[in-house]
Amino acid sequence: MCSADSRPANFLEETANTMTRATRRKALVALSLGAAIAAIGLESCSHFEYRNGGGEPFLLYSLVLSDANLKVVRVRGAVFGITAERATFRAFEGPKGKRLDPIGFKAADRQGRLLPVRAGDGLWTVENDGRDFTIEYDVVLMIEDRYSADVRDLMTSIGADRSRILGRDVFLIPELNLADGILVDVDMPTGWSLTASSPHVRNRVVVPDCAELPFTLAASGNYRSLERIVAGTEITLAIADSWSFTDEAFFDVVCRIVAKEIALFGSSPRPRYLFVCDKNPVMGGDRFDYYGIHYGGSMILLLDRRLDRSELMDTPMAIIAHEFFHNWNGEALGPAGTEFLWFTEGVTNYYSYQVLRDARVITDGQYGVRRRAISERYRENPYAGKVSIGDAANSDMRDKDMVNLLYDGGFLAAEALDARLRAETGGNVALIGVLKYMCENAGGSIVVDEGSFLRAASALGGGDLAAYLNDIVHTPCPERLAPDSSSLE
Ligand SMILES: [Zn+2]
Repeated sequence: MCSADSRPANFLEETANTMTRATRRKALVALSLGAAIAAIGLESCSHFEYRNGGGEPFLLYSLVLSDANLKVVRVRGAVFGITAERATFRAFEGPKGKRLDPIGFKAADRQGRLLPVRAGDGLWTVENDGRDFTIEYDVVLMIEDRYSADVRDLMTSIGADRSRILGRDVFLIPELNLADGILVDVDMPTGWSLTASSPHVRNRVVVPDCAELPFTLAASGNYRSLERIVAGTEITLAIADSWSFTDEAFFDVVCRIVAKEIALFGSSPRPRYLFVCDKNPVMGGDRFDYYGIHYGGSMILLLDRRLDRSELMDTPMAIIAHEFFHNWNGEALGPAGTEFLWFTEGVTNYYSYQVLRDARVITDGQYGVRRRAISERYRENPYAGKVSIGDAANSDMRDKDMVNLLYDGGFLAAEALDARLRAETGGNVALIGVLKYMCENAGGSIVVDEGSFLRAASALGGGDLAAYLNDIVHTPCPERLAPDSSSLE
């Protein structure tokens, strides 16, 4: 999860909950979602028929809203064709160890007799004894009703007029061999349409494999969908609510940023991406607050509902650049742990504003203003002289100052590294060149740490940056990264 300019949720004050009435109405919405893994029982799907012939195991999921007030959904799954003695389901684990917490998981055979289940450590193993079986559990979804930091860990939102479903929030992931792919069928009220992060035909989403299921995002109901091919990559925007700008104007900014970032790296890691744009349901007082989350081919942008049209050409759009940049720095190059988040977030933060500038979304002047603001905020950060940038993410990330230390300090460290690399190589190698080199050697995605970065920089002729990195990243040094503003230009 990432937040270019956001604040930790515990700093948000509770605001009038306008969702409550709408939430109550949700009881009337017979929303159900079915996920079919393989396609037995699904007609008119010749694409998958040959797979059925192989007798591959498959799972049919359905999801029903069972208590609108408490936002409880009941997930039912029917598993066919398993010949093994047992089948295991896994709760997807998020970056902070957060994971789906299914309530009352139980399994039964096709005659309704309960089957033994071993549960523990995010795994549920059904002793199905080679027979077909069903599973059932409840999930509590409360995104719009909560004002804690946890709100950002739950991106699924089910409403009277639209729903946004992220796989990891509702589905236990089967540890079964389903190499032929997964179908997710979304049953929606009449008149709703669907947009999804994976290819889909009407309400049927084709998820390439089990690993992709947690990242699968489906938006249905009152979302308007825009599509464009950018540098050979399919970009879709699903946007809800009304804004001070048109959908087309916003999508144009999205596409300009996407084009610039793909050009930076030379190619796109995935053939298609979905941006889902909603109003941020968690607003505090008059605080400007928006944030984004990136997962696989899905990006959710929760924007400030008061966003002014002029801000389409201003630094708030860094959220788009930031989340899309994570496709490389964050996903293709996955951080080994919190100790490397200064790089994942800091370098991404640094480039998000550069991309805005280079895509002419902001001017050089706007970039300079933003850069100075980051530098000043870092200098005034109460932790700047006490906690190193490298240690910020190991600390309390609910603390606004600590979050700022990571993002602001990370920006400045990235800028310093960029300058150092250019100086060492006579301008031949910049920080983006090192990232590109690391991505090219990743061959899909790899886990990276400081050693990976240092080796890549060295391989490109940037010299040994270890000592320099130690000075700026692992030593609290506000004076060094942010000297007084007169010398910033
Ligand atoms: Zn981020």
